[in-house]
Amino acid sequence: MSNRKQHNQEAGYVAERMNPHVKGCKVVIYVAEKQGLDVGEKYAVVCDSHSTLVGDSSLKAARLSMKAPENFCDGCRKIVDEQMEATIDQLQTQYWYLTSEMSWADKQGHIADQEKLRKERFHIVGELLAAGHTGSIDSKLDDFYRW
Ligand SMILES: [Zn+2]
Repeated sequence: MSNRKQHNQEAGYVAERMNPHVKGCKVVIYVAEKQGLDVGEKYAVVCDSHSTLVGDSSLKAARLSMKAPENFCDGCRKIVDEQMEATIDQLQTQYWYLTSEMSWADKQGHIADQEKLRKERFHIVGELLAAGHTGSIDSKLDDFYRW
């Protein structure tokens, strides 16, 4: 679908916003009936990138759908999930790296370094939780390291 598509001349157009997950694409609110969309609600919100839509009874609800298309669009949700997985994978790698650095500092008797690394590692744990990670911090190392 065209990245430059304009919607504001279309029947029933209410509002549009750039899709936060797909560059150059938009999410559009229409008065469903005027646009000929049968969604069983007054408003229809359309992800023009994935050709998906949802019905909302109020403009307030429709605006929320427009801001977060991953709540109704499988295509957008997939993008969000993949980005989240990539972020978590990266953070887990950092966590693993810091753990091995800590182990090395411990063997060398570098207590200050070890403390600094421990703080960094706690920061990574916080980021993992913020990124929506719910499993063990590092399943690969779970049997060897506990925190
Ligand atoms: Zn979408």
